[in-house]
Amino acid sequence: MLTIACPHCGPRAQAEFVYERTVDSVVPLDAEPAEAVAALFTRANPRGEDDEIWRHTHGCGGWLVMRRHRVTHAISAIRAIGPETLP
Ligand SMILES: [Zn+2]
Repeated sequence: MLTIACPHCGPRAQAEFVYERTVDSVVPLDAEPAEAVAALFTRANPRGEDDEIWRHTHGCGGWLVMRRHRVTHAISAIRAIGPETLP
């Protein structure tokens, strides 16, 4: 199990979080169907790091982007996202 450092709450067990998707699989609402299918189902999945969207569902409820290695699961960066992060 991972320990995830929530930007708002500090280190917490992975069980408190819900994985949503990778940042590069987010499809704009006005995307063409073929573009959406390509982004969701045919994108590359190489070894290396990926930016993933998670939510601290059983904690503060905040959203975050976590940079995690696909093979080792090592976490190299975490940042908050959402309205509370806007200046
Ligand atoms: Zn939190």
